[in-house]
Amino acid sequence: MFAAKLVCTKCGEEYPLPLGIYRCPRCGSPLDVTYHYDDIAEFIGENDPWFREHPHTWKYWMFLPVSNLRKVVTLNEGGTRLYRVRRLEEKLGIGRLYVKNEGENPTGAFKDRGSSVEITKALEFHAQRVIVASTGNMAASISAYGAKAGLEVTIVVPEGTPEGKLVQARMYGARVEVFGKTYDEALAEAERKAREENYHLTGNYHYRVEGQKTTGFEIIDQLHFNVPDWIVVPIGAGTHLRAIWKGLKEFRRIGLIEELPRIAGVQIEGYDAVVRAWKTGKPIEKITKKTPTLASAIAVKAPVDGENVIRAVKESGGHLDTVTNGETIEAGRLLGKEGLFVEPSSATSLALARKMREEGIIDRGESVVVVATGHGLKDINTWRNVLSH
Ligand SMILES: *Cc1c(COP(=O)(O)O)cnc(C)c1O
Ligand SMILES: [Zn+2]
Repeated sequence: MFAAKLVCTKCGEEYPLPLGIYRCPRCGSPLDVTYHYDDIAEFIGENDPWFREHPHTWKYWMFLPVSNLRKVVTLNEGGTRLYRVRRLEEKLGIGRLYVKNEGENPTGAFKDRGSSVEITKALEFHAQRVIVASTGNMAASISAYGAKAGLEVTIVVPEGTPEGKLVQARMYGARVEVFGKTYDEALAEAERKAREENYHLTGNYHYRVEGQKTTGFEIIDQLHFNVPDWIVVPIGAGTHLRAIWKGLKEFRRIGLIEELPRIAGVQIEGYDAVVRAWKTGKPIEKITKKTPTLASAIAVKAPVDGENVIRAVKESGGHLDTVTNGETIEAGRLLGKEGLFVEPSSATSLALARKMREEGIIDRGESVVVVATGHGLKDINTWRNVLSH
């Protein structure tokens, strides 16, 4: 294993691995796993056959914090395809436009990349029952990987979670607890239960980050180690965006790429805590109001990785903005016409790319990858309502 230690993303304090902590004991911020990067660089030789291996999450095992590869809990996550969408390119006036279609994952969302690592770690920690709070997709994903590992799974979801995601979790054998009106309340409850009732906690913590950074690895790999100008990512907790950025920096650190793309993050109207802080330069303030939204998967009032998102976007010279429900619907329809059916939260990335092109932030000649985070069948009711209007 090349993993070295845990480092706080805010105060920089270092901790040894493995340590059963979820946030920095000193300042309460999210942690990062770091690696012996020079050893990885040496391990991957220059003309290594590794480069020709088909991209999938565990192709990048040297960047993952798992000590025994024979004990990995996997459902063949990752390896999702990257689609060039030429008609959309022309319509939007973007040089090259790609969609990374994460709905092709085993449970229909990118969360599987992180769940594979988290559940593998849960077994390393001898957990028997795991708990997770979720807007739905992470619940379904942890349920599937927990089932595969023979663990008991409890999921905590807010009211109004799309039914398909809950049926999915129950088919994997999970116990479903509906708690609170938003993800933030469900999260507090899951963390309380983990503390007081001896569940192994999974969720938007550092081991998940490690799995989810492979979305970024695959994009680069699928572009033959050419770096796109932009990668656009929806923000819920902000963990996926933060993870993708971490992975890209690691690729550069060991010399697999020289440049880095700009990262753009998108929030849905009504849940814009990070965008607001970005625009005003003030600290992130939790959203207090619950607004009806199409994009339930990213309806998060206090994103745990909000500060890490802002840091990533700053470092990359990127961009943050919101899109409206209407812009999201249009983007969903545009993707449909390319043969890609994504859930509403996932369409926000295309909606933002379109807006950025219109505002001249993305140039005509640039290459853009939009990350479509989950499958359209995940949230049928929302699209059905759209179609009937
Ligand atoms: C979880 C999720 C997101 C948001 O990802 P974060 O890591 O929470 O920022 C976006 N889209 C879909 C479909 C999701 O399930
Ligand atoms: Zn700290």
